[in-house]
Amino acid sequence: MEEEKMCSTAGLPEIFGSLVFNDQVMKERLPKEVYQAVHETAKNGTHLKLEVANTVATVMKNWAVEHGATHFTHWFQPMTGLTAEKHDSFITPIGDGKIIMDFSGKELVKGEPDASSFPSGGLRATFEARGYTAWDPSSPAFIKDGTLYIPTAFCSYGGQALDKKTPLLRSMEALNASTINLLHILGNKEVKHIDTTVGAEQEYFLIDKDMYLKRKDLVMTGRTLIGAPAPKGQEMDDHYFGVLKPKVAEYMHDLDMELWKLGVPAKTKHNEVAPSQHELAPVFETANVAVDHNQLVMEIMKKVADRHHLACLIHEKPFEGINGSGKHNNWSLVTDSGENLLDPGSTPAENLQFLVILLGIIKAVDDYQDLMRVSVATAGNDHRLGANEAPPAVVSVFIGDELEGVLKSIEDGSAFKGTGKTQMEIGAHVLPHILRDTTDRNRTSPFAFTGNKFEFRMPGSSLSIADPNIILNTAVAEAFDEISEKLKGVKKEDLASAVHELLKELIASHKRIIFNGNGYTDEWIEEAAKRGLDNLKSLPEAMPRLISEKSIGLFTKHKVFTEEELKSRYEIFLENYSKTIHIEALTMIEMVRKDFTSGFVAYTKELTEEALNKRELLDGKGASYEVTLLKKLDASGTEINKRLSALIRDVAKAESENDALKDAEYYHDAILEDMSKLRAAVDEAEVYIPDEFLPYPTYGEMLFALR
Ligand code: ADP
Ligand code: MG
Repeated sequence: MEEEKMCSTAGLPEIFGSLVFNDQVMKERLPKEVYQAVHETAKNGTHLKLEVANTVATVMKNWAVEHGATHFTHWFQPMTGLTAEKHDSFITPIGDGKIIMDFSGKELVKGEPDASSFPSGGLRATFEARGYTAWDPSSPAFIKDGTLYIPTAFCSYGGQALDKKTPLLRSMEALNASTINLLHILGNKEVKHIDTTVGAEQEYFLIDKDMYLKRKDLVMTGRTLIGAPAPKGQEMDDHYFGVLKPKVAEYMHDLDMELWKLGVPAKTKHNEVAPSQHELAPVFETANVAVDHNQLVMEIMKKVADRHHLACLIHEKPFEGINGSGKHNNWSLVTDSGENLLDPGSTPAENLQFLVILLGIIKAVDDYQDLMRVSVATAGNDHRLGANEAPPAVVSVFIGDELEGVLKSIEDGSAFKGTGKTQMEIGAHVLPHILRDTTDRNRTSPFAFTGNKFEFRMPGSSLSIADPNIILNTAVAEAFDEISEKLKGVKKEDLASAVHELLKELIASHKRIIFNGNGYTDEWIEEAAKRGLDNLKSLPEAMPRLISEKSIGLFTKHKVFTEEELKSRYEIFLENYSKTIHIEALTMIEMVRKDFTSGFVAYTKELTEEALNKRELLDGKGASYEVTLLKKLDASGTEINKRLSALIRDVAKAESENDALKDAEYYHDAILEDMSKLRAAVDEAEVYIPDEFLPYPTYGEMLFALR
């Protein structure tokens, strides 16, 4: 047994990345100058000469064909939040009915998919419907299902971003420039380049596939729209980190293997808090690779589930009454020499730099808290944020007691006593020596410092993490610029005290965003309001902030979005919200009318017959239990009918709106409200109807069936 296990894992290093055209493959196969040119392009975005591109294309194609590929695709990330691909074969006819496998530099570098059907928020008039895709050499190509996947950015003919990768790369560049500038001012002159690093923990649910297929709500919308709670939920805390059920363990193993082949460094897997909920965490990578990989993770999770006769649910709130799923975005900055800028150092100079970086980030999150909220706003995530599980809709920063103590002592000039682990004195010129503190287990904070990185916990499980990282990178770039501006020109010998003064200022103006307590409580929401923090509860409430003057100023200054790009995104997010709820409403109407009603009618029919039979038998008496039930169900039926009619009526009205924001507000205020009332009525009745009468599985069956 032991031996077998060793054999089966012995090949892992070979399996990992075996389907990826990664750095090692390039080094082995490309001529040295070509390899260097590609590297240069990947790092600095320098233009790649056509001869160079031709060589890379040929080598890439040969490698892909050796690994069984027949096609290639420019893989991109349109504003749907999903990925898109169009496959072309390598086949080129050469006469006589013969073909060769061909792939040119031009085909590698640029593609022109018909873009007219992707959301553009009005950016792309139909007469210039062409969009083009451009190779992103900083994210490696890979083979999946016989096709070579080339990660690309997707732009309109006029160069406007139509995707999530383009602004992400721009934001990484902006943050790189601002950080380098700041580090140089702080005297750290060796650093030439910094990267944003991201590790995205992904939560998901697994349920039986047959059950899934019987639920129109799950199939059409990803979440259950009706369904009474099971007698048991997550209150026993017996699922979190619990033993993996064999079927789940097999699935996870297969999933890891698939991901490893694609070079996705899947690392941790465990059961989550809710029944049937699980998590996968990868090792962190450069932000844009992490974003690409997270898209792959979500796709492969679903694909592998299908093979195991399971359904993988990535929606933020598949089940009411138990925890939803999020995606923790772990984020840090690393220099070209591998120094993590969020690692508290061991010398005063390193700590000085650390504190400036830390406060720069705190400042960014405070100044742009509304945009942080916007970056995670989706119809699905609205069910999570502010409910009693996920972080609230109020953005705050957790830094732990230790660091808070340090900041406090800097602010008031007192000596920091520490909590036993650290001793330091803070005079005007002496900055504290900070030990790395990894004790944070405050899971309620939306944005938590966890020792050597920040963990942004607001993103929903199905979100492309490009969105939060674009905003975070840009906001931090701006904060660093403002800090640099203040320190510019300060003489070397005055730097430490100038920094100290600046830190004091920063702490005083941004400490309102720091909160180490329990973020789920009502007291915090009240306290946050007193501190003047935003509490943007829903997408329609949050979204206008995306096109505020401040936001436009930020993004255009750092060349991450043009004003038009920003406005188009605003339209797309709003439309997406309204469309999502519209589909949910229609699905709910159909499911209640057909599926639920058939069960309801069948059961009440049986009850009625039973009551009549009994009465006949008992000379017109008896059957009081059946009659009571019937009366209850009849009352529910009346209520359901009323609520259903209201929903149908209001959905019909919604279709006549045409302002994107008003539309979204209407869906939020009227339709969601109707749906929730209809649901309450249906769920109340469902409790009385035996499972076998319903043509779909109940919560209890779905959540506890897997073995
Ligand atoms: P927890 O569940 O306690 O948050 P996990 O180990 O599940 O911790 O996840 C931590 C995540 O943070 C992993 O994906 C890890 O790769 C990532 N991470 C660690 N260090 C960094 C860093 N410097 N930059 C970005 N992400 C990081
Ligand atoms: Mg986490």
